[in-house]
Amino acid sequence: MDILEAYKFCPICGKPSLKKDSNTTAQCQNCGYKIYLNPSIGAAGFVFNDEGKLLVVRRSKEPAKGTWHIPGGFVEVGESIEQAVEREIKEELNIEVKAEEYLFSIPNQYQYKGIERYPLDFFFKCKLVDMSSMNVDLSENSDYAFLKPEEINVDDFGLPSIKEAIRRYFHK
Ligand SMILES: [Zn+2]
Repeated sequence: MDILEAYKFCPICGKPSLKKDSNTTAQCQNCGYKIYLNPSIGAAGFVFNDEGKLLVVRRSKEPAKGTWHIPGGFVEVGESIEQAVEREIKEELNIEVKAEEYLFSIPNQYQYKGIERYPLDFFFKCKLVDMSSMNVDLSENSDYAFLKPEEINVDDFGLPSIKEAIRRYFHK
């Protein structure tokens, strides 16, 4: 479902008078307040070890549960995208990385609890600084691996933007 159709109550006047009036806006028919549909910003990192192998994680929750993934998550208010990718990877795997190079951004789309979501994912090449305390947060990922570029198969990755990022980075 489109979130602009799911919203009913206006956060300003409290009336059930929000109405979708374009692909990206809904307006309150009572007070005129407008809601804009913006992408949420995702940040993901291509992390390589000393042998040039890519760090991949297996998703333990929907969407795309069970597929390979590149570690990352959503940018929080007040932080840069570089800070977000470094923080998310620390939270997921307890490793320290440095976002060294911005690669590209790819619009994503999937359903979460029946609502269509439109993240915009930013990808960085990250340097592995310290993995001596590596520990997988099982609420996010069930497994991880370091894969040689020739072992990487686009079909093993689940989310559309991640598949596209793997294709672009490795020219697959
Ligand atoms: Zn209103």
